[in-house]
Amino acid sequence: MPIKLGIIGYGGMGMWHHKNAPKVKCVDVVAAYDIDAYQVDVAKKAGLRGYDNLDEFLKDEEVNTVLIATPNDVHKDLAVASANAGKNVIVEKPVAMSMKEIDEIIEAAEKNNVVFTVHQNRRWDKDFNKVKKAVELGMIGDVYTIESRVHGAGGLIYGWRNKKECGGGMLLDWGVHLIDQILYMIPNKVVRVYAELFSVLNKDVDDYFKLLMKFDNGLSAQIEVGTFCLKPLPRWFVGGDKGTLVVDDFEGHGEIVKLNKLADKFDAEIVETTAGPTRTFAPRPEEVKDHFELPDVDTEWIEFYANVRDTIEGKAELIVKPDEVKRVYSIIEAAFKSSETGKAVEL
Ligand code: NAD
Repeated sequence: MPIKLGIIGYGGMGMWHHKNAPKVKCVDVVAAYDIDAYQVDVAKKAGLRGYDNLDEFLKDEEVNTVLIATPNDVHKDLAVASANAGKNVIVEKPVAMSMKEIDEIIEAAEKNNVVFTVHQNRRWDKDFNKVKKAVELGMIGDVYTIESRVHGAGGLIYGWRNKKECGGGMLLDWGVHLIDQILYMIPNKVVRVYAELFSVLNKDVDDYFKLLMKFDNGLSAQIEVGTFCLKPLPRWFVGGDKGTLVVDDFEGHGEIVKLNKLADKFDAEIVETTAGPTRTFAPRPEEVKDHFELPDVDTEWIEFYANVRDTIEGKAELIVKPDEVKRVYSIIEAAFKSSETGKAVEL
């Protein structure tokens, strides 16, 4: 059965889906609903049936799947209404504003026997897939630390993203992607979460945060998102007992560094730093290190729509599963709690 998509919220991301979803065979966008009359007009000019009324939109019989790309605080009501109208439901990230809201969406989807998934598109990012493959292949041995970091320089956050009541702030906006990536890569249980949220330039929402996740195998993962970092650090730093991996950017440029056989012959000497000596931090000479390219990956985010289509047809399992979405949200809730209390949250 071809997907006939109706988009709710024909703004930046709604238009992006309109442009990209039809690149997949048997996926068409046919309609859009928006509360803003201007955006409805834009949708009509782009060739869609445009609606300014939700009930009318949900009565559109050609639409079998609804994609919700509105501000975050209205995702839940729109998702439940769409499921109750018998439509399959794709929700933009972050799926909702609380675990309770996610449960309501899942319940409505199950009751109406429709597919429900979330657009966690950064599972298909090149940088992430290189790290995932290298970790899974054991290219740097047993991994003890992962740092996933996005440093932007813009500073100010605009529109509804700058309003707490709309689900603004960076933990919900980018944290949800970066947590999802880590949990998709590391199947172990998270036992502890510690987070600190800051409002550096934007007073109502978090525009910088640090989050630590401790896994039951001892691995520690740190996520850091900052909107005002004028000297950005690399996108990924991963430490293993056989080497170090660094990815610089979203394109996945970076390398793996390991010791070679000459390392056995290297005896660290005490070096003098400005105010004292150290042997532990004496630099290793270049000749004892080997540099390796990161693994090749073949990743196409457009697979997301194909997977939804195939799941609706009963030919595939969802890649972004509701219980994974809940797992990510349990970390977000713990991070908010940790930041409020100043204490780590045991899970
Ligand atoms: P936007 O402000 O550009 O567009 C939102 C649209 O929703 C606007 O046209 C607005 O009029 C409409 N709208 C608001 N309330 C509505 C309602 N109750 N019913 C119907 N329409 C309504 O926002 P955006 O940047 O497109 O973000 C939309 C969603 O997409 C958010 O959840 C955001 O987190 C997500 N997003 C995801 C990615 C990604 O990479 N997955 C990237 C950007 C945004």
